[in-house]
Amino acid sequence: MSQSPARRRWLFGDQLGPHFLDSADQPVLLVESRRAFARRRFHRQKAHLVLSAIRHRAAELGDRCELRQVQRYADAVGGHSLSVCHPTTRGALAFVRGLPDVEVLPARGFATSMDDFTTWADGRAARRLLMEDHYRTARQRLGVLMDGDEPAGGRWNFDHDNREPPPKRRSGRVADESNRLGVSEPWWPVEDEIDEQVREDLDRWERDGDVSFLGRDGPRRFAATRDEALLAVDHFVTRRLPDFGRYEDAMLADDPWMAHSLLSAPLNLGLLDPMEVVHRVEDAYRGGAVPISAAEGAVRQIIGWRDYVWHLYWHLGPEYPARNALRARRSLPAWFADLDADAVQARCLSGVLADLRDHGWVHHIPRLMVLGNYALQRGWHPAELTDWFHRAFVDGYEWVMVANVVGMSQYADGGRITTKPYAAGGAYINRMSDYCGPCPYRPTVRVGDDACPFTAGYWAFLDRHRSDLAGNHRVAQQLRGLDRLADLGPLIEQERARGAGAP
Ligand SMILES: Cc1cc2nc3c(=O)[nH]c(=O)nc-3n(C[C@H](O)[C@H](O)[C@H](O)COP(=O)(O)OP(=O)(O)OC[C@H]3O[C@@H](n4cnc5c(N)ncnc54)[C@H](O)[C@@H]3O)c2cc1C
Ligand code: SF4
Repeated sequence: MSQSPARRRWLFGDQLGPHFLDSADQPVLLVESRRAFARRRFHRQKAHLVLSAIRHRAAELGDRCELRQVQRYADAVGGHSLSVCHPTTRGALAFVRGLPDVEVLPARGFATSMDDFTTWADGRAARRLLMEDHYRTARQRLGVLMDGDEPAGGRWNFDHDNREPPPKRRSGRVADESNRLGVSEPWWPVEDEIDEQVREDLDRWERDGDVSFLGRDGPRRFAATRDEALLAVDHFVTRRLPDFGRYEDAMLADDPWMAHSLLSAPLNLGLLDPMEVVHRVEDAYRGGAVPISAAEGAVRQIIGWRDYVWHLYWHLGPEYPARNALRARRSLPAWFADLDADAVQARCLSGVLADLRDHGWVHHIPRLMVLGNYALQRGWHPAELTDWFHRAFVDGYEWVMVANVVGMSQYADGGRITTKPYAAGGAYINRMSDYCGPCPYRPTVRVGDDACPFTAGYWAFLDRHRSDLAGNHRVAQQLRGLDRLADLGPLIEQERARGAGAP
């Protein structure tokens, strides 16, 4: 069907930037569905961010926008001749395709088109769909950080330079432990009367028993408008990007933000086009303001990882999210599901749950190596965990979950995306963070009162999945280590007794 400029553009709540419109005067339909929040228990700050972003966009567009506040989408879209950009979930895509007189346009807001990704994926035949290969192809096609045919800086990958443990506490170096990296604070938005109204509405809905939320309310931390998103990009690129790559994989108990961009929320709300962020990053590198390792690290996340997980959501098919290759069937315990950080003694897990409770966000290593790792070790159901990640994070969307949670963090696809499970013991957390020092557990201890639940959980996980992992040469050494453990019997018994209790 050809595109008609006369059609009103229906914008979903994650299509809020100017690149989802075709002209400066195109009429718009925005829908705020109360039922979307009533059906599931989202983080309070996520509900706030999404509503604030939709309402800010409606206010910006003024008379040419019709904002419908309804129970269900279906209540708002009848009687219109609409066009809509390809939605970001299978359910929404089926819904818009089933409506009469709605024109569905190709997806926007990603750097690689669906056709380009399909061509790349089909060309790989039986080979694994490696992120690294997708990323290099995208860099070449888009001409990002390229010097002719060669990657800028002479290498495609600066991960090796970007995996440093956090800097040690050094007296005199920093006055403030919450900023041990010495990096500029992130950009923070200033709330306005729209946020005030959102907060009142959410309080009222909760009081009326219509909805209930996870986590705590708090100042809005993420951009909800285009102008705010541009300020956030500018601040990140000019003040924080130079420190981005180096400590990307490190964690600090007193500094959840470190040098991360905090751009996932505005990117996933569609307020920013990924390529504009990438161009800003490349300009900073070309202008000599940031090292190649930092620029490459950021570009890799945005046109590499982000696009890769978006395309895998579609490419891996509708059955993929239900995969459960390791037959993990336990339900998430309430202390974890409800972000009850105070119930937990293990300092890393308690700290990460508290950050998530307070902000609806932690960076990728706490997601993967603390929350995901713990769930993997304990055999929690991957689909339940996926739903929880979706609801608990301000930047959580269905399409982001599939590769990140089902594939990467839970190995529920049996190794389609990753070569081995992201299971690790306390030694990893101890190396990459400052959590372990004051923790009541010891990362090196496997059995006893001070046995680290991550270390013991790691060996118990390997033991449980010996046969599943037997053919995987990347874990062969660890499986041999398992055979040498003299205290494996008591360790397994100890972890069985721990059960679903908070560690
Ligand atoms: C178990 C798990 C769950 C995750 N859930 C989400 C989620 O719900 N939403 C989400 O946007 N990201 C998710 N991620 C990816 C990543 O953790 C977040 O994008 C990142 O922490 C957001 O913070 P930031 O904007 O400061 O990111 P930075 O560290 O500054 O990275 C820059 C940008 O790269 C993109 N990016 C990097 N890695 C990924 C990735 N693996 N998938 C998608 N985008 C990526 C994001 O847009 C991010 O803003 C998840 C990762 C894991 C391991
Ligand atoms: S000792 Fe174990 S539980 Fe405690 S902080 Fe370290 S890794 Fe976490």
